[in-house]
Amino acid sequence: MKYLAKVSLCLLLLLACPLQVLAAGADSVCYGTTSNGFLKKGVALPKEGENFQPFSSLAVFLGRTYIHSTVKAIVTGAYGNLAKQFPDKVFVYGETGWKEGGEIYPHKTHQNGTSVDFMVPVVDKQGKSVPLPTSVFNKFGYNLEFDKNGKYENLTIDFEALAAHIYFLNETARKQKVGIQRVIFDPRLQPLLFKTKYGRKLKGKLKFNSKQAWVRHDEHIHVDFAIPCQKMK
Ligand SMILES: [Zn+2]
Repeated sequence: MKYLAKVSLCLLLLLACPLQVLAAGADSVCYGTTSNGFLKKGVALPKEGENFQPFSSLAVFLGRTYIHSTVKAIVTGAYGNLAKQFPDKVFVYGETGWKEGGEIYPHKTHQNGTSVDFMVPVVDKQGKSVPLPTSVFNKFGYNLEFDKNGKYENLTIDFEALAAHIYFLNETARKQKVGIQRVIFDPRLQPLLFKTKYGRKLKGKLKFNSKQAWVRHDEHIHVDFAIPCQKMK
């Protein structure tokens, strides 16, 4: 009997402990709001993918692309949908936040792991989807200025791809039983977004800013996901 008890204990330890460890490390917990909050067990967005890349490998290295685990699942799920529907399109994500959340200069929000910046998808003169050029000389893309038609030098915002990206983020978020709280995008450019096939599916369904935000959001969109968070302690 003693032997059997020992064997049972061993089996329990083998089976139960790794499961416990996995469960303990799986889900992030967000606290407070996007402008006053923090994050526990934050996870990093993937460094690269089939159809996407970060805006700056330095920012990744510095730990500025951490996020809530549910948001990570939404973001990567949406990229998966886009790869199937638009295999020739490439996407660039921007800044998210610190592993533990909190203030992340120069953002006013991005504090509790539920905010993500996505750089706008663009096409070149030939209509080919190319990553937004990001370097230290243009504040890693954040300093680029698109005109009212969505043009910057030989690049044009790919409004169809951008609308599809937002659409699939919302669909994937809904599958995760959450949603999108709001999207910030330059109001001057929003009509061009809503004109597209996927854009028509977004209008009136998602909350977009009606006024210009504190910085012009023409080279990137800001998305807050409606993840239930704990109150600040
Ligand atoms: Zn942002």
